[in-house]
Amino acid sequence: MKTGILVLALVAVAANVALAQAEPKPKITEIVIDGVAGFHDTPMQPDGKWHVHDPARPQPPIVTPGTFSAQATPPSDAIVLFDGKSLSNWRDKKTGGPAPWTVEDGDMVAAKGDIQTTNEMGDMQLHVEFCEPDPGQHAGQDRGNSGVFLMGRYEIQVLDCYHNKTYADGATAGIYGQHPPLANACRPPGEWQTYDIIFNVPHFNDQGEVITPGYVTVIHNGVVAQNHQAIRGDTNWRVPGTYTAHGPTGPLALQFHNHPVRFRNIWVRPIAVVNEP
Ligand code: MG
Repeated sequence: MKTGILVLALVAVAANVALAQAEPKPKITEIVIDGVAGFHDTPMQPDGKWHVHDPARPQPPIVTPGTFSAQATPPSDAIVLFDGKSLSNWRDKKTGGPAPWTVEDGDMVAAKGDIQTTNEMGDMQLHVEFCEPDPGQHAGQDRGNSGVFLMGRYEIQVLDCYHNKTYADGATAGIYGQHPPLANACRPPGEWQTYDIIFNVPHFNDQGEVITPGYVTVIHNGVVAQNHQAIRGDTNWRVPGTYTAHGPTGPLALQFHNHPVRFRNIWVRPIAVVNEP
């Protein structure tokens, strides 16, 4: 009898341990197609053609960008978010404390965690310059990963896709997990690259439903990568975008994804939207 109780108790303990171990780990299967790592166990995109992060989705065509003569200077009415000297316009995204990135040689270097601006912005023109770690290390999503998060929610992917393939909806200048870039205009690691982004915020009704989605145009190194593309909602890993209602402005956030991606010359111009034809 005593032995029976002991066995039951051990089974109960074992079951609890098994439950505690099993619950937080849904099975994830990464697959590789033509050298591209991705997933087929993710939901379908609304177009019904591709899974989220589908490695079979066509790669964006490679376009060699034109050249630039020098670092650009901001327009006279721009709000300068990083001028090469101070992180005073930025905070730790998670804690609200001081931004944990470093400033080296006039550049902002990603470290420790995501950061976001103290400014909140709505419709805007945004300029960002970034430089991927040289030499590049690792592959796929694990190579020079960062991100420009509009309103802290909608990620324009920053990644080193120069001679580096990844699932198309996670490539450089892609709307992460949703829309691949129209072209891969990456420069080699160690060279400065530019994003010029025009963003229109989404609008919601009183019930929190989307009236108009957010729209984004992204010019990467002078090449159009997103053309007034509707955003499907918050961007996340392995899920299609879904909207959560929010206000008309939000901070700009930059991602730390374990890689020391450098940024400089970040400025924004709020813009008015005229919807009359
Ligand atoms: Mg990223």
